[in-house]
Amino acid sequence: MPALEPDQPVTIHCPHCGGENFLSDACARWNVETQEWELSNVFDDKTCDDCGIEVSAVERPVQEGA
Ligand SMILES: [Zn+2]
Repeated sequence: MPALEPDQPVTIHCPHCGGENFLSDACARWNVETQEWELSNVFDDKTCDDCGIEVSAVERPVQEGA
């Protein structure tokens, strides 16, 4: 199984329902200069919005099967 390129676009799928509606726990930091919340860190915990449970996301290359 070849390693994915760092810039390889992927889609993530729920192993239970196959959906792509994922929520990820993350940490945002307020930037005074831009007056916007900047993503500081994204944690590994993913939740499928459809199943409502924490799952291990399955990553697939976007161009798979194209
Ligand atoms: Zn799901």
